[in-house]
Amino acid sequence: MAKISPRAPRSPAALRARGRLHAAARVAAAPARNRATRASDDEAHAAIHEAILDHRLPPGTKLKEVPLAQIFGITRNVVRKALLRLAHEKLVELRVNRGAIVANPSIEESRHLFAARRAIEGAIADSLSRSATRQQIRELRAVVQQEDAAYRRGEVRAAMKLSIEFHRVLARLAGNTVLAEFVDQLTARTPLVLLAYRAPAQTAGCSNEEHAQIVAAIAGGDGDRAVALMRQHLDDLQGQLQYEEDQGASADLAAIFGRTRD
Ligand SMILES: [Zn+2]
Repeated sequence: MAKISPRAPRSPAALRARGRLHAAARVAAAPARNRATRASDDEAHAAIHEAILDHRLPPGTKLKEVPLAQIFGITRNVVRKALLRLAHEKLVELRVNRGAIVANPSIEESRHLFAARRAIEGAIADSLSRSATRQQIRELRAVVQQEDAAYRRGEVRAAMKLSIEFHRVLARLAGNTVLAEFVDQLTARTPLVLLAYRAPAQTAGCSNEEHAQIVAAIAGGDGDRAVALMRQHLDDLQGQLQYEEDQGASADLAAIFGRTRD
């Protein structure tokens, strides 16, 4: 067997991730050495991806290879692979001779991102208004209810994940896999923009009430209203931002991933 970490992952999320990876490895036909390397790469990728999406790693945070390799008990090569995948997903920026940072989107990029979301998600709302089945409406309502319940329990991080999930479920149910992929990528990049440009001491995010109104318009087959509400919803989200350039950020990587380096 190739080496994985001698240290067991400590967080429940890491344990679940490792459990899934072991299950996947059992059915994989690749040689043992490749399986172990892949597992480490996947684990590092998943952990960094999640930390970026739920705002624990702010835009501009340096992602140094040596501490990350120590935290995950993997080689720098494997860390580099994970960072490369994140760079393809536009969540990480690889800078020549200066290492990787969590992507720090510019004001212009943020405006383009919201313009793209309004166009694509408006089309998705329109299409779903004509095609949604009762079962699909139930699925959408369930996500909105879970999001609402998470906010009521004060679980902001979980609620924000469900907000992203709402937009992804809409895209998936519309049935166009290419549009759904675009939405996946755009929603993954949105939290970075929200974090980079939100007003001080405020959390920026989707309005649960607005999600419910969008579902109601789709359920009623009112395409024009669904499109208008979706566009207004994304306008409101963008309206929470203050476009001033950020100072950049530093962070304790070991604390963020719930691990110690000793
Ligand atoms: Zn939303």
